[in-house]
Amino acid sequence: MTNELEERRKKATIKAIPRKHAGKVVEPYKILDRLIKEVSDFAPLKKAAFCIAWKSGWRCDKDGILKRAQIRKASEVEREVYGEFDFVLLLHKELWQSSSFKGEAREMDVFHELCHAAPDIDDATGEQRVDERDRLCWRLRKHPIQEFPAVIDRYGLEASIGVNEEAVAAVDDEASQAAAQAAENDLDRPIIQTGGESQGGPQGRLAGREGRTARTSQNAHQETH
Ligand SMILES: [Zn+2]
Repeated sequence: MTNELEERRKKATIKAIPRKHAGKVVEPYKILDRLIKEVSDFAPLKKAAFCIAWKSGWRCDKDGILKRAQIRKASEVEREVYGEFDFVLLLHKELWQSSSFKGEAREMDVFHELCHAAPDIDDATGEQRVDERDRLCWRLRKHPIQEFPAVIDRYGLEASIGVNEEAVAAVDDEASQAAAQAAENDLDRPIIQTGGESQGGPQGRLAGREGRTARTSQNAHQETH
C-alpha cells in the first residue's frame, strides 16, 4: 500500500493489552493487581474485572493539560456483548513508552484511576448493589479536589482542599434547619384541607423531583480521568 493510501486510513487508537506476554503478567496488570492487593481502600475492587488498553494520540490541550489515563465503567451493552469486564483502564501509550515515565509515575496514574472505581452501594442496606442477573454493580467517583494553582497560591493548600467539605456541611446544616422549620409549620396546619392542594404542595414536590433527576444524571457519567 502506498503511503498516501495508508495515511487516509482511519487511525486505530485503542489496543487492548493482553494480560500476559511470554507467560508473564505484563507491567500495567502487575501494578494494578499489586495496588488492589496492597491498598485497603481498593479491597472491594478484588471482585471487579479490569481490561487495560493502550490509548495513543492523546495530546496536550489548550490549557496545557495532558490526559495521561482514563477509566471507563463498562456500559450494560458492553458488558453483555463484548465480555464481562466491569472497568476499562486506558493508558497513554506514547507516555508509557518514554524513558522518563517509569516506576512511581506509572504507579501513580494507575492508583489515581483506581480511586475513581468504586462499588455501587445501596444506601438502604449498606451492601453493594447487584443487578437482576446477580452481577455486582459499580460506579465512578468524581475528584473531591479540583483546583486552579492560583487559588492554592493565594489561599493555601489546606484551605483549598477543605473548602468543599465545609460547604457541604454548611448546606446540610441549612437544609436540616429548613426541614425542621417545615416540620414545625406542618404541625400548625389543619389536617383536613378544603379545595385543591395548597400552593406550596405541587411546587415543592416538583422541586424535589428535579433535584433527584439532576443527581441521577450526574451519576450517569460512564468515564472519567
Ligand atoms: Zn481522575
